[in-house]
Amino acid sequence: FDALSSFDPEISGILLSELDRIRSGLQLIASENLSSPRVLTALGSTLSNKYAEGYPGRRYYGGCSEVDKAEELAIARCRELFGAEHANVQPHSGASANQAVYGAFLNPGETILAMSLPHGGHLTHGTKVSFSGKWFDAVHYGVDPETEDIDYDEMERLAKEHRPKVILSGGSAIPRLIDFERIRAICDEVGAIMWVDAAHFIGLVAGQAIPSPVPHADVVSFTTHKVLRGPRSGALVCKEEHAKAIDKAVFPMMQGGPQMHTVAAKAVNFKECATPEYQRYAAEVVENAKVLAQGLAERGIRPTTGGTDTHLALLDLQGVGVTGVDAEARCDAAGIVLNKNAIPNDPQKPSVASGIRVGTPCLTTQGMGTEQMTTVAELIHTAVTKGDADPEHEVSRQVRGTVTELVEAFPAYPR
Ligand code: PLP
Repeated sequence: FDALSSFDPEISGILLSELDRIRSGLQLIASENLSSPRVLTALGSTLSNKYAEGYPGRRYYGGCSEVDKAEELAIARCRELFGAEHANVQPHSGASANQAVYGAFLNPGETILAMSLPHGGHLTHGTKVSFSGKWFDAVHYGVDPETEDIDYDEMERLAKEHRPKVILSGGSAIPRLIDFERIRAICDEVGAIMWVDAAHFIGLVAGQAIPSPVPHADVVSFTTHKVLRGPRSGALVCKEEHAKAIDKAVFPMMQGGPQMHTVAAKAVNFKECATPEYQRYAAEVVENAKVLAQGLAERGIRPTTGGTDTHLALLDLQGVGVTGVDAEARCDAAGIVLNKNAIPNDPQKPSVASGIRVGTPCLTTQGMGTEQMTTVAELIHTAVTKGDADPEHEVSRQVRGTVTELVEAFPAYPR
């Protein structure tokens, strides 16, 4: 770090002030986490220098003896962790992993059935602004208006009507467990490939806190940096019968050289995931999210679906008469970092939104438990309903005072 700071004080200053930012607030963004210094060490290594197009033992470059070992370890650990027949650890990100699934199973113009973005899906699940909606024919199911959970009857009806080649489940704002058995049955009925985008919840699967999609799905794509707590990246697991198609779709169809430092960091993360400490963490992430959602519900901020089974809660602010964009700004001024989020059938446009999304991975990694979640619920409620976007406002200052006490007791990256 000294070599960097003497040469480039601007960038080294940013690295330090980002660490300060993380340490000084409550990080409640459901898709973020604090990966370990071990993972960060692998990321900052000389493996970043190496070109390794191809796969272990079958590279298009010389000098791959060491990176081959790293990738073989990452693959073996990933397969073991998820009980998967095949793993590809090269996708650069969740979106790249998803691109490879399209490449492996669909030709342009063919049909995919997926969760709609405004009901909790993801941009890469066939929205018009993404390659997925431009190049493929995407049909979307949503949530049941009563339960606000996935409408499996609609999924089945649309599957029979459109005969999609692939049925995709998973998304970015789904607080409840997904019924993989039901989706497998629908896929079998219409002869579709079952694809699960487990980016958000795969860490809970790794920690055995929730059921796994892996035994049911043809292919599971995921990011490695959310609850899972690895480097910012992606990965895929699939049935052996799809292994060749998936590998070819990742390289050479969608990507060039893999980022071998990130592959090594994924190997470190998969090893961490296999420890009893990680399993405890995964269970606590869910427990914390349930208590946080309940605490907010008791204060008049309604979790959609009535609560959560996972690491995140989606909160409807209409009852307290505050928009998502205002709530995000008020919380931010008070040292609480979260994001506005559309809720199902949101009357507001997405840039305003009627909801916020909160997640517990970071706070749980910092060691906070259910007692602290009750305090966090109180702080969010105060900031949202009485606060202001001005950090100097009395309520912002008062909430920030308690935030500081909490983060000092449970520091991120303790010194
Ligand atoms: N899939 C889902 C369900 C996601 O939530 C995300 C990211 O938020 C992605 C894919 C894309 O991942 P990345 O940002 O790594 O491309």
